[in-house]
Amino acid sequence: MAADTFYVLDFDRCIGDTDGVQTVLEEVLKEETGILPDTFRSARTRIESEGKTFDTIRHVHMLLEEAGSSVTWEHIRERLIERAKSVNLLLPQARELLQILNDRQLHYGIITYGVEEAWQLPKLEITGLLEVPPLVTHIEEKGKLLTGWKQPDGTFIVPPALSKEFLPLNVPRLVFLDDKAKSFWGIPEGVEGVHVVAPGGNKLPAQQGELPPSVSDVVGIAGAIALLFGE
Ligand SMILES: [Mg+2]
Repeated sequence: MAADTFYVLDFDRCIGDTDGVQTVLEEVLKEETGILPDTFRSARTRIESEGKTFDTIRHVHMLLEEAGSSVTWEHIRERLIERAKSVNLLLPQARELLQILNDRQLHYGIITYGVEEAWQLPKLEITGLLEVPPLVTHIEEKGKLLTGWKQPDGTFIVPPALSKEFLPLNVPRLVFLDDKAKSFWGIPEGVEGVHVVAPGGNKLPAQQGELPPSVSDVVGIAGAIALLFGE
């Protein structure tokens, strides 16, 4: 298969409301096990302030064990999915962006960085993104991952996991949206990098840092839509 462009979307804090997901998780944990949000949050704040990615699911397992709880992660996950049906856990304009991509029949997928795949995929399920092909990577500098797709003729082969048809897709151009500066490190020529900065400014150390000169800064997904589609 071939197309003009493939759109690579980041999930956490880019199209997905990671903090909102966290809040729902904290509520469910409290209801099901009595574990208080503060207990959960303090560990997360400490780890993220060190510029590291917080490993949510491992932490939940640890808290359940410490509390001597008989509740399983599977139970928590089911309650979470049930609860999330009534809340919007995508960031502003993310739904509109997906609508534009769908309406124009453009190819897109989610590449999410996570130390544990076990939490990345339920997050997509919770936020109603199961129909979008996901790829979970352990490479924090996603630019390096995209470099691996590059062919000798300068085009890219998008892996089958990111296509709804499960076929490799050959494209001359990639558009790559992400909130973390580090994600853009090592991006090859032919990738249009779009650094999505939160409307109030990016707060996490991992979101800050040098950007390659080819990458554009935009404010929120609304800014990305304006840049990419002039809407
Ligand atoms: Mg992100």
